[in-house]
Parts: sequence; C-alpha cells; structure tokens
Amino acid sequence: MGSALLPVEISAKVAAVYVEIQDMYDEVSSALDFTCEGCPDNCCDSYFLHHTYTEWAYLWEGLELLGAEKVAEIEARATAYIIAVKKAEAIGERPQAMCPLNEDGLCLPYQHRLLICRLHGVPAAMTRPDGQRMDFPGCFRCQELVGENIEGPRMDRTKIFQKFIAIEMEWLGVKRQVLPKVKKSIAEMILSGPPQFSYCKI
Ligand code: SF4
Ligand code: SF4
Repeated sequence: MGSALLPVEISAKVAAVYVEIQDMYDEVSSALDFTCEGCPDNCCDSYFLHHTYTEWAYLWEGLELLGAEKVAEIEARATAYIIAVKKAEAIGERPQAMCPLNEDGLCLPYQHRLLICRLHGVPAAMTRPDGQRMDFPGCFRCQELVGENIEGPRMDRTKIFQKFIAIEMEWLGVKRQVLPKVKKSIAEMILSGPPQFSYCKI
C-alpha cells in the first residue's frame, strides 16, 4: 500500500453505506415531514473534524473527478478556510467558515461528500462503545419542528459508524494500529492531498 485512493471493492462498500444512510435519512425526514426547502441557512459553514482515512480517500476520489484546475481553486479556498478557523479559535469562538467545496450553494463533489454532511439535519441517536447513549437533536429548523418530542423518529448512528469502522479496518488492516489517528477539517484533508502510507513500514 503506497498511498492514496481506495481499492475498487472498498470504494464500492463506502458507496453502498452512503446509499443506506440516504435511505435512513429519507425515512426519518419523511416521517417528520422535514425538508431543507426554503431554509435561510446553509449548514455547509458548520465546523466539523473528520476521523477516518476511508472518508478522506473517498473524498479525494471525488476531487480528482473535478480536474486539476477546479482542485487548485478549491485548495485556495481551503487555505482561506484554515486562516478563518485559526482566527476564530484564537478568540475562543467556534469556527464558522463556508466549506471550500461549496460553490454557489452547491457541493462540488456531492456524491463524495463526507459522512457528517449526510447525517446533518434530522435527529439521531448513538450508543457509544462504553454503552452511553448520545442524542443529536438535528439542525435548528428540525428542532423547531420536533419541539420537545425527544422520542420521535431518529437515525441510528451506531450501525453507521460500526460499518464505517469495519470498512476502515478491512482497508488498512494491521496498519490501522500504527497510523496516526485522523482528526482533520475538510480543508486539512484537501490541502494534505490523498492519504499517504509510504512512510509506514507495516
Ligand atoms: S462537503 Fe459538500 S455537503 Fe459537506 S460541507 Fe462541504 S460543500 Fe457542504
Ligand atoms: S439541514 Fe437544516 S439548517 Fe441545514 S439546510 Fe437543511 S434545514 Fe437548513
């Protein structure tokens, strides 16, 4: 394993999990009668860190489809994004900067967007490995719709994350035990290029 993009069979598994996520999202949003239509907000300026080599490499599959010229524009926006994040962090604020992949309100590598982009919006729950349950109330608009009803329809993130970890383990094998943990913003994933493993001797 030298670097970079995912083996075809791993890439296909990622795509299949993303289809499952879309189905789960559609089920919950339709049960709640919730859509993004007419929303005054664009949640692509929400700040998240991402934690798998798989998502990072899959995102790069999408970036490479956009061509070198567009990637250069995206890299320039990613640099500006990182400066904005540092400025916000320096004054103790949560960063809020438009994702460098968003152009005129649209996600450029839409089919390759990240996991959290696909989960954001509707309520969700997750059971952590230590058994503790975590609840996610959904975006502000969904919270207005759901109100106090915390027992209503929600996505189960536990199964999704388990599937992602299984894919990550299948792809990286024993390397996973020695590679540094991923904790990157989307801009950092862009500016780092696809994941490189040539330095890893396992
Ligand atoms: S990857 Fe796409 S969907 Fe996700 S925040 Fe960026 S522009 Fe929005
Ligand atoms: S997920 Fe919520 S905040 Fe984001 S665009 Fe949709 S309705 Fe608006």
